[in-house]
Amino acid sequence: MKYKKRLAVIVFCMMTMLLAACGVEKEGSLLENASTKVPSQKGSGLEVQFLDIGQGDSILLTSEGKTMLVDAGNNEYGNGLVSYLKERNIDKIDYLIGTHPDADHIGGLDVVINKLDIGKIYMPKKQNNTKTFEDVLTAISRKGLKVTAPKVGDTISLGSATVTILGPMKSYDDNNNCSIVLKVTHGDNSFLLMGDAELEAEEDIIESGADLSATVLKAGHHGSHSSTSQSLLKKVNPTYAVISCALDNKYGHPHKETMTYFKRANVEVYRTDKQKTITMESDGKKIVTTTGGASIASSKTNSNYSANTKAPVKKPGTNKKASYIGNVISKKFHIPACSSLPKKENQVSFASRQEAIKEGYDACGRCNP
Ligand SMILES: [Zn+2]
Ligand SMILES: [Zn+2]
Repeated sequence: MKYKKRLAVIVFCMMTMLLAACGVEKEGSLLENASTKVPSQKGSGLEVQFLDIGQGDSILLTSEGKTMLVDAGNNEYGNGLVSYLKERNIDKIDYLIGTHPDADHIGGLDVVINKLDIGKIYMPKKQNNTKTFEDVLTAISRKGLKVTAPKVGDTISLGSATVTILGPMKSYDDNNNCSIVLKVTHGDNSFLLMGDAELEAEEDIIESGADLSATVLKAGHHGSHSSTSQSLLKKVNPTYAVISCALDNKYGHPHKETMTYFKRANVEVYRTDKQKTITMESDGKKIVTTTGGASIASSKTNSNYSANTKAPVKKPGTNKKASYIGNVISKKFHIPACSSLPKKENQVSFASRQEAIKEGYDACGRCNP
């Protein structure tokens, strides 16, 4: 017995020396279980990654080994997203949020649910009559999980950060307005994640009297002018804004007005279409931002998956296939043959009338589209 004890002490000392020699900082976790995978995020910090997932949203938050994923981009990036997470030793998502049932936010959720360990799932009480939405529900029920509806004012503890649910304040006809809006607080820093919430929902959140001030604003609806009102911007008063969208997307996101508002308010803007994955690390006092991170939208992992899904619509600088052409300045839309088309740099294309109207464009009085 004595001998065994001494042996244990010697082994322990040797292990400690070995770890010290390796320069391992997190010896506590390593001694517990040498094979435990530790997410890349270390210490008591918060890491927020705005993933480059093309025209859509996916935001990964990690703190003290806890993970939250807000949205999962379009269908065709589901596999790429899972590879991205696994490469970073993330096998479990403690909190999975589907902000609202639009394909560019929940498209990849089914793959994430199928392939990773999932803690809690939050989605608003809003149905969508699409296969994408059905796929998500099927994945949820297959795993025996249940959906938690967001309750305004509720908080979620994520490592050393606190996530507060600020919206939706009520149910809306429009999917975007139903977006779950989250404020992530970490020491002196905070991140306001707006989903696709548009002006009406923004107004209701402002009226709720919630503290909207934040260091970083993830602009609503990919920087569309249908979101980020001046009054919201004033309340949030961010130092940084992040816009998640694809390069040359057919909606013209981010819209000029939104960019002008940010410029006037002296907000430094980061964009996933130009800077790929954007990582912000908070130590509770300052935020260190790194751009140019791995792009899921252009990852090869997606190619073998996209065979049975619709390929992303890429329209590099041409409007030839557009059914309707919008003017980003006047907010009118036209048929491509209209005699009063805007200048090329002010054009945005729409596949349908509905899409143009949804983006807040009015029909041109001349060509009557
Ligand atoms: Zn949406
Ligand atoms: Zn969206």
